[in-house]
Amino acid sequence: MNTYNITLLRGDGIGPEIVREAVKALDAAAAKFGFALRYTGALIGGIAIDETGEPLPQATIDACKSSDAVLLGAVGGAVGGNKWDLLPPPLRPEAGLLKIRAEMGLFANLRPAVIYGPLRDACPLKPEIVGDRLDLLVVRELTGGIYFGERGREGDAAFDTERYSVPEVERIARVAFDAAMKRGKSPSGRRRVHSVDKANVLETSRLWRETVNKVSADYPEVELIHILVDNTAMQLVRNPKQFDVILTSNMFGDILSDEASQIAGSIGMLASASLGEPGKPGLYEPIHGSAPDIAGQNLANPLATILSAAMLLRYSLNEPAAADAIEKAVETVLESGLRTVDIWTEGCVKLGTDAMGDAVIKALS
Ligand code: NAD
Repeated sequence: MNTYNITLLRGDGIGPEIVREAVKALDAAAAKFGFALRYTGALIGGIAIDETGEPLPQATIDACKSSDAVLLGAVGGAVGGNKWDLLPPPLRPEAGLLKIRAEMGLFANLRPAVIYGPLRDACPLKPEIVGDRLDLLVVRELTGGIYFGERGREGDAAFDTERYSVPEVERIARVAFDAAMKRGKSPSGRRRVHSVDKANVLETSRLWRETVNKVSADYPEVELIHILVDNTAMQLVRNPKQFDVILTSNMFGDILSDEASQIAGSIGMLASASLGEPGKPGLYEPIHGSAPDIAGQNLANPLATILSAAMLLRYSLNEPAAADAIEKAVETVLESGLRTVDIWTEGCVKLGTDAMGDAVIKALS
């Protein structure tokens, strides 16, 4: 039986509550699909500051690097009024998050935007645009491009530099094509990657396009479509169903992944993965924060974390059947009208964090 080592970074606020529910789902999936999971807890964020004086102790870095995958809740205290705000920026909870991403060499960020049929009303687009279900994945390059290029001031001017090398584009393109293979087929019946650029203007985009073309030769089953970034922004609200995997640079992905997540609606439903080189552990986390306003009240929606755990099974442990089963269980729970308070609507049954976790496990088994 395969045994995998998972590091749990519960973090602050609702972090421990939502990670607890995701672990329940992981354990149920492991039992059903015949593998074992061993967990090691480690400190990050405000709780790490309280207990060790720093937001990311070396022991946490070591635990993360030596595991098969890392599941993170969230870090941070109440915005504009918590004890950690008084610390210098490198010692605040969020610094721990930035540092662990760098330490683990996570260069790819994967953000699915899924609209489940029963939650369609949370989507701001018209029903005929979205259809029964929407399921796309934004793959964003995370460690290169204009956010990391040379910048400065010259007299009354300022500049930032966009720079990408062939190896940087190649490795993120491979993540996108691999994801298209792992996700199975899009509603159109094809595996599809839209590669986003601004090749009509930018030289980095022309290099990006040439390199993605070369990588695509290794993935004959995946359809490659090049699309300009301005058109992508428009098509995401005009006809989002055409997308399966969207491959983007750091800055374009920053903007487009937020746009895509708004189409999917509720913040408590949005999962994410950050990946490094093949064979190295990935980091999985909900995109929301530590929600201090509802922490400890059994009100948090654990589904984004449970769906992040499903991504962990798919992308780090290569257990796609278990990942599919968790995602299907979440859908079943929503179809049966069970909701945490953040996604509750008239006629549905309101559940707490733990009961929502239990409902997912029941649907799974
Ligand atoms: P937030 O995402 O924590 O909360 C925004 C709103 O959404 C709140 O009303 C909250 O109650 C609600 N919400 C968030 N997650 C929810 C869930 N699972 N179920 C139900 N409701 C949920 O954002 P914020 O309030 O701006 O930030 C709070 C803290 O989180 C800050 O310290 C911030 O720095 C930190 N933060 C951390 C991460 C991370 O760990 N990756 C990301 C964003 C913000």
